[in-house]
Amino acid sequence: MSLGTFLKSTIDGANALRTGFGITFRHYAEQQLKTKPVDTIQYPEERREQYPRTRWRHVLTRYDNGLEKCIGCSLCAGACPARCIYVQAAENTDEQRFSPGERYAAKYEINMLRCIFCGFCQDACPTGAIVLRKDFELSDYTREDFLYTKEMFLEAAPMETMIPASTIGAMNRENAAK
Ligand code: SF4
Ligand code: SF4
Repeated sequence: MSLGTFLKSTIDGANALRTGFGITFRHYAEQQLKTKPVDTIQYPEERREQYPRTRWRHVLTRYDNGLEKCIGCSLCAGACPARCIYVQAAENTDEQRFSPGERYAAKYEINMLRCIFCGFCQDACPTGAIVLRKDFELSDYTREDFLYTKEMFLEAAPMETMIPASTIGAMNRENAAK
């Protein structure tokens, strides 16, 4: 390499460094002096408001009286394009009642690794039991941890809202007798 070429490449390199650091320092100064609005937020301490129709983690909802809305009909599983929902239905009894109908979901599982959060399950559900809400922090460590069970989806019910199974059984018998 000739001396001229060496000097030219050294000057070009120094100019490139000066330009790059100039941009970095300009942004740093703007941030410190707050002369420009900052687009980034300090996640996770700060969170952006999500759009109203955001669809993330599923929730199995309950009625105001505490009973589960899911009746184990499997329409959500049928509508799921990723085939990642498994529902196992069982019969309610007057002694042990989970939902107002004849049946409830004894098992409700979703493989969250296959879910594409399309919301078809929510659209297909006749009782509004399964809904996709705004919890998007779904990372985990093992594949098994992404097999979500009914207990993980089910909304908590305050104990005082629960109607005793015997009361609902009596109500159903009254309705049937009418
Ligand atoms: S959001 Fe879509 S892919 Fe996920 S469980 Fe529901 S229907 Fe299946
Ligand atoms: S979530 Fe809805 S569609 Fe799915 S099994 Fe329960 S009631 Fe049926």
